[in-house]
Order: sequence, then structure tokens, then C-alpha cells
Amino acid sequence: MTVAAHGSLLVPSSLDTAIAALTDLGEDGAPFAGGTWIMRAPIRHEARKATYVALGRIAELREITITPAALEIGAGVTHAALASAITTLDDLRGLAAAAGRSANPAVRAAATVGGNLCTVAFAAADLVPALLCLDAEVEIAGAGGRERMMLEAFLVRRGTLAPGHLLTRIIVPRHLGHSAHARLPLRKAGDYPVAIVSLRVACDPSGRVREIRIAVGAVEPVARRWPMLEATLTGERLDPESAAERAAACLDAFTGRDGIEAPGWYRVHILPTLFRRAVAAASGS
Ligand SMILES: Cc1cc2nc3c(=O)[nH]c(=O)nc-3n(C[C@H](O)[C@H](O)[C@H](O)COP(=O)(O)OP(=O)(O)OC[C@H]3O[C@@H](n4cnc5c(N)ncnc54)[C@H](O)[C@@H]3O)c2cc1C
Repeated sequence: MTVAAHGSLLVPSSLDTAIAALTDLGEDGAPFAGGTWIMRAPIRHEARKATYVALGRIAELREITITPAALEIGAGVTHAALASAITTLDDLRGLAAAAGRSANPAVRAAATVGGNLCTVAFAAADLVPALLCLDAEVEIAGAGGRERMMLEAFLVRRGTLAPGHLLTRIIVPRHLGHSAHARLPLRKAGDYPVAIVSLRVACDPSGRVREIRIAVGAVEPVARRWPMLEATLTGERLDPESAAERAAACLDAFTGRDGIEAPGWYRVHILPTLFRRAVAAASGS
């Protein structure tokens, strides 16, 4: 392990060493992945930790494994590497779009999937709604071993993880059907999106919705599924215009957060349009 001159950055090459260092540091330390959130702490008027433990040299965190049954993503995989690895997989198009269109090329080359899921205060994380739609699970490692849980459960627990615990892997079951990711930044490059709608849908042979998952990001502080709209659409034929009308009737489900990019009411107001775009993208129209 390397200790920088100020003792502020540890660079372990194994997961066990990283966990041991983070456990020793307690509240004075934190993992450093792509650094794209941590480096902007002064802009948010947040204090930095005294010491960071860099994850970039831990090989297992950069692995991507693709089988017919599942996609496994190491927490240290960058948005760009993920997008490029799954770009030809039809069922994972939504996730590829989320990873391949977030932020800008320089950020995508550094920001990691793990950092995206672990940043508690980041409401506009693109990968969170995309992975919620895919029923993703996450693996957490600590000195006591490894534990798996649904991403939905992790989003509730992530703010209270004890020091010495790392997100190590994301496990995504492969599903029949199609997926899409629609986002609205107000400017072209680099802006956080005002709202995000991710979708996964499978239809029966007659074209009626058999299973649907819809998740909304950036509108509220944490991305979540839209169960009211999912229930309304199950068993129905899905076309972009009527889907948008159904979405407009289910907007009570959300309370938009006011933020620098947009007021809360606007984030909610544009959801039917984003949902229409997601349905059109998922159905190839
Ligand atoms: C200008 C700009 C625009 C951006 N726009 C978008 C956007 O539109 N959409 C989007 O999704 N992203 C966007 N990002 C990137 C966003 O910052 C990252 O997606 C992500 O939130 C941070 O990933 P990171 O690897 O850089 O994490 P870091 O900055 O290294 O860490 C972030 C937090 O996660 C913790 N952490 C990191 N990895 C782990 C782990 N494995 N286990 C436990 N804790 C961990 C760290 O301790 C820290 O608290 C943007 C970034 C910039 C700079």
C-alpha cells in the first residue's frame, strides 16, 4: 500500500487491505473511487475526509462478467467501460444508455458504478433508476464477510453502512424483453438531469404487458419505482401516446424536489413526456 505525503490517500491493491484500512480509519476515512463526486465537495460546501482509500488498483472491482443469466459488474467499473461492454445486448439497452449518456465523456471515463450507487446525496444518479428496473442486487463486503441485498434495500441502508464496508459487485439478472432510459438535462453536456425515467417491459405474444418496471430518478431525493403506473399498464397494450396519458394520471405519486436545475413541480410535470420517450425507445418506434 502507498501512503501519500500528507497521509491522505491510501492505495491498496487488494480488497481485504482496503477493508482493513477503512475499518481502522472509522469515520475519518472513506473510499475514493472515480472521485467525480468527492472532488466537488468544496462546491457543495462539504468537508472532505482526512484520509481516502483509493479503490482503483483493486482488480476484482473492475471485472465485468456477462452470461445468459446475469450481468455482474464490479463496483469500480466506470460508466464508459460498462456502456461499451453491454452496448450490443438488447435486453440491457436501458442500462447502456444510462451509463453511456450520463455527464460527459471525461466524467464517464472516471466515475464508477459503485460511486454512483453509494453517493447518498446524489439524487440524479443515472444508474440507480436503470438498475432498479432490472431488479439488480448488490454485494457488500466487510471484515465479517459478504452480504447480498436488493438494490432497493441498499438505497435505504447505504447512509448507515458502518465504516469498513464496501459495495463490491452489482448483480443484474437478464430478462426477456426490452429496456430504455430517458433523461432530461436542460443543457447538452455535463448537466445533472432534471428528471429520469427508466423502463423495462416484457409483453406476451398478443402484445399485452406481462411484466413492467418503471423507475424515476432526479425528481425526489432518491430514485424509486412507480408502482401505480406499473399496475395500471399491466395487461394492457403499450403505445407511447396512451402510455404518456396513463402516466399523466399517476403524477400524484411524486413530490418533486426544488433544486438549482429546476423547481419540483417541473420535474414531475415532464414525467409523462419522458415516459413516452422511454416507451418509444423500448418498442423501437
Ligand atoms: C460535472 C459532472 C456531471 C455529472 N453528471 C452526472 C449525471 O448526469 N449522471 C450521473 O449518473 N453521474 C453524473 N456525474 C458523475 C457522478 O459524480 C458519479 O456518477 C458518481 O456519483 C460518483 O462516482 P465516483 O466513482 O466518481 O465516486 P467518488 O466521487 O469516488 O465517491 C462518491 C461517494 O461514494 C463512496 N464510494 C465510492 N465507491 C464506493 C464503494 N465501492 N463502496 C462504498 N462507498 C463508495 C465514496 O466514499 C463517496 O462517498 C457527474 C459528475 C460531474 C463531475
